[in-house]
Amino acid sequence: MTYPSDVIIGEEASVVGNRLLLIDPRGEIDENDLLEFMERHIEPAFWKWWEQKEAMRRAGAKGVVRAMQAETTVAEEVQPVEVRDVPRGPEVYLINCWHCGGQIAWRTDLGFQGSCPYCGALIQLTI
Ligand SMILES: [Zn+2]
Repeated sequence: MTYPSDVIIGEEASVVGNRLLLIDPRGEIDENDLLEFMERHIEPAFWKWWEQKEAMRRAGAKGVVRAMQAETTVAEEVQPVEVRDVPRGPEVYLINCWHCGGQIAWRTDLGFQGSCPYCGALIQLTI
């Protein structure tokens, strides 16, 4: 891990995170506090911001800004579906969300399509 030279580094740094990392280089902040703040504030805020940015970028690339219309079907607004290949096995599959990388224990008896419990991205499970 490389820090800017003006960062004061403790003997042990505290690091929490999943896809994003939150680091206290001094190791003074309790990891549980870092994790709580990360999950409550940083992750939700970041993905919301990131999705909006991506949506703007996609709209810009097509040269069209689509207005949010009440009659627009849900299917047109959801995230693109990414097919995940997982090995055959028991009824629970351990997969990683294509969007946020969150690990999900997927129960196939509840269906093969659903949204990520962490970021809400649509996931299609292919076996
Ligand atoms: Zn996710």
